[in-house]
Amino acid sequence: FGIASSQFSSTAAAETSSWRNRNSLRIPNLIGGKFVDSQSSESVDVINPATQEVVSQIPLTTQEEFKSAVSAARDTFPSWRNTPITTRQRIMFKFQDLIRKNMDKLAQNITTEQGKTLKDAQGDVFRGLEVVEHACGMATLQMGEYVSNVSNGIDTYSIREPLGVCAGICPFNFPAMIPLWMFPVAVTCGNTFVLKPSEKDPGASMILAELAIEAGLPDGVLNVVHGTHDIVNAICDDDDIKAISFVGSNTAGMHIYARGSAKGKRVQSNMGAKNHGIVLPDANVDATLNALVAAGFGAAGQRCMALSTVVFVGDSKSWEEKLVERAKSLKVNAGIHPDADLGPVISKQAKERICRLVQSGVDSGARLVLDGRDIVVPGYEQGNFVGPTVLSDVTPDMECYKEEIFGPVLICMQADSLDEAISIVNKNKYGNGAAIFTTSGAAARKFQTEIEAGQVGINVPIPVPLPFFSFTGSKASFAGDLNFYGKAGVQFYTQIKTVTQQWKDLPSGISLAMPTSQKS
Ligand code: NAD
Repeated sequence: FGIASSQFSSTAAAETSSWRNRNSLRIPNLIGGKFVDSQSSESVDVINPATQEVVSQIPLTTQEEFKSAVSAARDTFPSWRNTPITTRQRIMFKFQDLIRKNMDKLAQNITTEQGKTLKDAQGDVFRGLEVVEHACGMATLQMGEYVSNVSNGIDTYSIREPLGVCAGICPFNFPAMIPLWMFPVAVTCGNTFVLKPSEKDPGASMILAELAIEAGLPDGVLNVVHGTHDIVNAICDDDDIKAISFVGSNTAGMHIYARGSAKGKRVQSNMGAKNHGIVLPDANVDATLNALVAAGFGAAGQRCMALSTVVFVGDSKSWEEKLVERAKSLKVNAGIHPDADLGPVISKQAKERICRLVQSGVDSGARLVLDGRDIVVPGYEQGNFVGPTVLSDVTPDMECYKEEIFGPVLICMQADSLDEAISIVNKNKYGNGAAIFTTSGAAARKFQTEIEAGQVGINVPIPVPLPFFSFTGSKASFAGDLNFYGKAGVQFYTQIKTVTQQWKDLPSGISLAMPTSQKS
């Protein structure tokens, strides 16, 4: 996964050498500050989606190994929560510096394992880096509240305390940004953490974990375990884990939300999407078309905030032809090539699924105005490439509209009015993001008020909030009540303790009545 064994910390040398001798492709777990090989005989291949080359393997970590990771996190919690918050922040300062210095290494790894272009991979790291920068100011973010003299000589204050061991379960599409949404906020609040990266591209998580240790994160504060469903279920069931952050599909997310909550845990679950862009005829044509093409096909459509559906209102429908021309001009290639606009999709199965959903659209009456399904990229004939694809005249009853496609496929619909367009968006089950393109302030304000989506863009196609706000998907795109990062992120990883103190005017007699601040 792109790290030479000598780059692991020296304390881990004994553990790392054993796994490297046995199988150099296998990625270790990180348990109690040591990179240790799993004893499991089962592995999953991590495959370069442009070449099908096996890059590395993740172990299906055993239950005993998982438990030792949780125990390491649990046992480290008392000392870590008592570590001054300024010290915790300083580790994040150092961590953000190391991420910057290792940006190219991280991006290279992401492109190899995930497929996105190098430039896009840098963006993946940078958007995560911003969360680390935000965590550097945790003392202010985690501040409590104080009211003096709530009654004679009595003061009340509330403190935001860490929860204990928290866990993060990650998807494949942002191998750096999404782990960085999770553990930097959690650990700077004073929690310890168990991270389960995506089995499809775990390398960035490993590099980040190594950098976090180099930055000074003590042994046991961050642990990394690899695996799939069994480890996820173990996370949901484990009594020592107090909170779960999940990002991924609805199938997994709702399962984890139900199973984790049933065990009394906090769960925040960011899930699938079908993001719409409404285009009004008064919009700036060039800027709008450029935005639609970039947001529909960037990262091969594998962003949870990709604009996968365009609703042309009235005469803007005539812009579709120009949209197709721009989509055609995009260059599909392996992400390592500087000229690549979009790389491959993550797996053969993902490509099959995308092609099947496109075909289902055609079979139910949509017009395939641009077909990227049969694209072959010279030199990468085995890659999972899908070229930009545009389906027109799509209606809400079609499977290709109802399902999240998660590929470079733009779906075009039509509406006669803004009201009709808003109604289409609001009837969709997902509510991650929605955007409007217009020069009318009144239309934009109406859209902002009436649209049922967590993240709203006004002439901004991918309105992913920076870390001082929160990532606020809604409807079927989110389960839980406290979102990722921003104020809500700090609230998610902390619980409130409210203290009432009295140092003078202590009561002289016994009164069994409910204490109040009323004068007798
Ligand atoms: P996924 O759900 O297949 O996998 C996510 C994680 O869950 C992985 O770590 C995987 O091991 C685990 N997992 C998968 N199925 C499971 C099951 N049945 N039981 C237990 N664990 C399971 O998601 P993915 O394909 O890696 O990621 C793509 C999805 O993530 C898309 O739906 C995308 O919209 C969504 N996503 C959402 C956001 C957001 O913020 N809303 C951000 C990124 C990605």
